[in-house]
Order: sequence, then C-alpha cells, then structure tokens
Amino acid sequence: MPHQNQRGGMPRTKAKIVATIGPACRNEERLAAMLKAGVDVCRLNFSHGDHSFHAESIRLIRQVSAKIGRRVSILADLQGPKIRVGEIKPGTFLEEGRPFFLSTVPMEGDARGASIGYPDLPKVVNEGEEILVDDGKIRLRVTGTNGKDRVETVVVNGGLLNSRKGVNLPDTYVSLPSLTAKDRKDAIFALGRDVDWIGLSFVRKPQDMKELRQLVKEQGKEGLVSILAKIEKPEVLSHIDAVLEYSDGIMVARGDLGVEVSFEQVPIIQKEVIRKAVSKGKPVIVATQMLESMIHNFAPTRAEANDVANAVLDGADAVMLSGETSVGDFPLESVEAMKRIISFTEEKGYCYCPEKRPAASDPDFVKEVISYSAVQMANSAQASAIVLFVEEESAVLRVASYRPCTQIYVFTTQPALGSRLGLSWAVEVFPIEPLERTAQAVAYANEILLREGRVEHGSRVVYLSHIPFHQRGEGMNTIRLEVC
Ligand code: PGA
Ligand code: MN
Repeated sequence: MPHQNQRGGMPRTKAKIVATIGPACRNEERLAAMLKAGVDVCRLNFSHGDHSFHAESIRLIRQVSAKIGRRVSILADLQGPKIRVGEIKPGTFLEEGRPFFLSTVPMEGDARGASIGYPDLPKVVNEGEEILVDDGKIRLRVTGTNGKDRVETVVVNGGLLNSRKGVNLPDTYVSLPSLTAKDRKDAIFALGRDVDWIGLSFVRKPQDMKELRQLVKEQGKEGLVSILAKIEKPEVLSHIDAVLEYSDGIMVARGDLGVEVSFEQVPIIQKEVIRKAVSKGKPVIVATQMLESMIHNFAPTRAEANDVANAVLDGADAVMLSGETSVGDFPLESVEAMKRIISFTEEKGYCYCPEKRPAASDPDFVKEVISYSAVQMANSAQASAIVLFVEEESAVLRVASYRPCTQIYVFTTQPALGSRLGLSWAVEVFPIEPLERTAQAVAYANEILLREGRVEHGSRVVYLSHIPFHQRGEGMNTIRLEVC
C-alpha cells in the first residue's frame, strides 16, 4: 500500500493531477473529496460554460480549498480557434458514400448538410482534403467549394452527428487568429479573477504565445499568471523549442492531436514533447482519455492504467482528467484511481535519471550546475527532502528538471509562487515570513516539515539558498546537507 502521511492523508506523489471542473463535480462536498483525494490543479474549460458558470467554479474551488487547507491552482483553458458545426436535427445520421455539404449560413443541419462556424472555410479548403467531425468519428472528403459560402463533401466514415460537435481540418491551413475575440474576452475575465495559469488551445507558432503573454502583461499580471501552450496541431511540432521558450508550460493535448495527426504518432510525440519540456524545466501535462472509460465505469481499463503509469514513467509533471471529472459518473473514483496508479508507479518504478546534464554553453550554466549538484547530493545521501528558500520559480524549476528522488519543498514569501508551482513535478510550497538568516530559515523549515510529516527526526535534508540570506532574490549559491 502507498504510504500515508502522519495526518492520515493521501500518499504524497511527485506527478500532479489536473482535474477538469464541470457539472459532475461542482458541489462543495464532491469537490472537497476530490481535492483531498489528490487534485492539484483545477482546469476550467472555456470551450464550455459562460462567465457566470466559471466565476462560480472559481469561487467554489477557492472556498473548498481554504476550508480543507489544501492549496490548488486554477488553469483557465482557452478554446482557441476551435471550429464547430451548428445546430443539428436530433437523430441525424451520415451515411458513408453520401454527399454532405457545409454552409457558412446558419441553418439547422440534417443528413444533407450542416452549417459551420468558420466563415472562410469555402475559401481555404481544396478538393481532396479531409474534414473530421466529432474527434474524427465522422470523416468527410472535400469534393468541391463555391469559394463563397458552401463546401461540398462526400462522407468517408459516417455516424450519428450531434449539434455543435468539433471540426478538425488536418490538411487545411486555417486562417483564424490563434487568440480569437472570444479567447481575449475569456482571458481578460480569467486574469481579472486571479487564476494561476492560462492555457491556449491549437497553438500553431511561437508568436501565438507571445500574443498571449502580451495580453497578460496588458492586464497587469505579468509574472503573476503563467501561460501554457496546448500541443494539438501538426504544424506546431516543428516549432516546439521556440514555443517552449515563450511558454511557462506545455500540454500534450492528445484529444485533438490524435485527430490532427494520425493516432499512431501520438505516443512518440508525447515522449518527445515531455523530454524537451523536462530538459527546459517547463512543466508538461499529459491530457485526454487517460481514464476515459471511467466516465461510465467505476474502474479503469488495463490499457488506461498503463497509459497513466507510462506518462508518469515518461517524466510528465502532471496527468489530466477531462470528461472523467467534468461530466462523468465517477469523478471522485477517477481521481482516486489516478492517484493510486501514480503512487504505485513512483514507488515501484524507478528513480528518474533524465539525460539532462548542465551544458557549459548554457547562459545559466552556473545555476544549472548548482541545481544539478544539489540533486546529486540529495540522491547520494538518500535524503528525504530538498528544501529551497526562493522568491522566484526559476531555481525551483531547474531543480525539478533534474528529477530528484526526493520531494522538493519550497519556502517563499511570495504567495503567487505557490499557486503557479502547483503544476510542477514533486514541488510543494510553504509560505514563510521574511527572515534574515539562513539558520533561522532552516530551523523554521525543519519545524514545518516535521510537523506536517514530510520528514522525520534523523532524516537527511538538502537545503538550497543564497548567502547572504536576505539577498536570496539573486539566485542560489549555497548547498547544505543536514540531519534534521
Ligand atoms: P480540450 O483539450 O479538451 O480542450 O480539447 C485537450 C485535448 O485536445 O486533448
Ligand atoms: Mn483540444
């Protein structure tokens, strides 16, 4: 059994859990149980729900989090340039081989055709290109366009078509802006409510993240709210390094990714994106269909348990629940199942040895060497904890990027840091009063860690700080190993 902490709480794990908030979990009792079971980050999906719905979710998350004394971060996930079909007559079934049109004029759709929420579609599609509907369940091939308001297609794979289902155009250059007017409104709303992270869907190029960063800045939240790029378009794959550079974190958004590229590519893309993100010290989430069958079943399939475990073994910072917690029948059980898989995998798996080593060519070489050395020391000493006294997150992310065998405890006077670091592998944040001396800070940290059951008397702890202590904004320059 996974170990319990001294207060009988849940097992401590390094990989974090993101849960999508929706009608299935939006009551105080249910949410409290889910947070206690291990949710670290709550995701608000701006593809669904209006501002009053999300305002209520934010209020509820904060209230429950304060009540049970468990810190959670909030991720506002912007819809991006998602294309959808319009309203469809109930029971509409598309049959293979039949013609089907898409019109930019609003109308109620049926088996002959439907409206589509992308006015430029007739101008940008070409004959032979594929149009995928409802996560690729329905496949259409373009047979013609009038270049104005109507596209003709033939049904390649048929099925039941419901209102407002998503449309993917993997072959087509989509001319929509990456940050749509709706995204801007949603982002301004979310920034005004002090969420911790803002994610953007369908990122195609580094510039998209620059635009989002600019918006965060304009709203006066620079350095307070972090930005996340969702990797779900094929064209972004050739810009991953630059996108990572402009983002604070990244998501392998396998739902749309698996439609936009063929599904057999997803596992390797996942591993590659995680490897790059970890080596850059940027948190990475693996998302979608992780425990999909738990939307209706109380236990996951073997393949799903494997999937969560493999994301953990790949080194992901976090794994995500989508429909499982937002609309599923078993939201709490899904969180519990995920926690159990993470916990067992981390215990019985192996201590990560990422390929990363400090590179002399890195402008932050000295900082990298200090972080790497602290991790090496903690691993060699079989330490129980690495403690950092910091005021900004870069040092924390650097230490986490070497994936130590221990948990990472951060003591900071900056409350916003705690929320943003909610997504980061193995990181737990404790607030600290402004202190003057290292010895004082170490004594304080030890007291808290002992009291909270994070370490025991006699545990070895590695401390990373700056001497003189009061100038610790300048970065880490001291590693210290002690028995507490
Ligand atoms: P979504 O993003 O759930 O907002 O579509 C995740 C994904 O596509 O995997
Ligand atoms: Mn998506």
